[in-house]
Amino acid sequence: MTSRAYVGLGANLGADLRATLTQAAQALAALPGSRLSALSSAWRSAPVDAGGPDFLNAVAALDTALAPIELLDALQAIELAHGRERPYRNAPRTLDLDLLLYGDLTLATPRLALPHPRLGERAFVLRPLLEIAPELAHLATGDAWRDQRIERRGAIATDL
Ligand code: AMP
Repeated sequence: MTSRAYVGLGANLGADLRATLTQAAQALAALPGSRLSALSSAWRSAPVDAGGPDFLNAVAALDTALAPIELLDALQAIELAHGRERPYRNAPRTLDLDLLLYGDLTLATPRLALPHPRLGERAFVLRPLLEIAPELAHLATGDAWRDQRIERRGAIATDL
C-alpha cells in the first residue's frame, strides 16, 4: 500500500539552486518503494523568518510505501548529503526538505508534525503545492500569504 506524500524543497545557498532542486527531486524518485508522481515548477521567494539570499522552492508529490518516520529519515539523509549544516535556527541552508503532508495523517510529535505546522501560511509552500494539487486549496489559512513575494521561474528539468 502506498500513501501520497507532499515534500517541500527549498535551497538558498550554493552556486546553482536549480541543480540542487533537480538532484533532490531525483533523490526522492530513487527512494525505496516510492514514485515521484508530480513536481512543481521552481518558484523564487524572499526568505521568511530566515536570512540570506532568495530561495528557490518547489513541491514534489511522492507515492510511497515508506512509513512517515522512514520518509522523514530519508529526507534528512538527502539534506545531509547536500551538506546542510545547522549553525543556528533558520540559518541559510543548502537544501531544506519538509514533509508537508502524508496522506490525511495528522500527527503532533516533537520529531514530526503533520500537516507541516506552517504549511497554510507560506506562499513558498502554497504556490507550488497548489500548482500540482489545486484540490488542496482549503489548507491555506488567511490571505497574508497572497502578499508574500514569490515568482514562478519555470520548470525543473529532470529525466524522470
Ligand atoms: P527545519 O530546520 O525547519 O527543517 O526543521 C527540522 C526539524 O523539524 C527536525 O528536527 C524535524 O524533526 C522537525 N519536524 C517536525 N515536523 C516536521 C515535518 N513535517 N517535516 C520536516 N521536519 C519536521
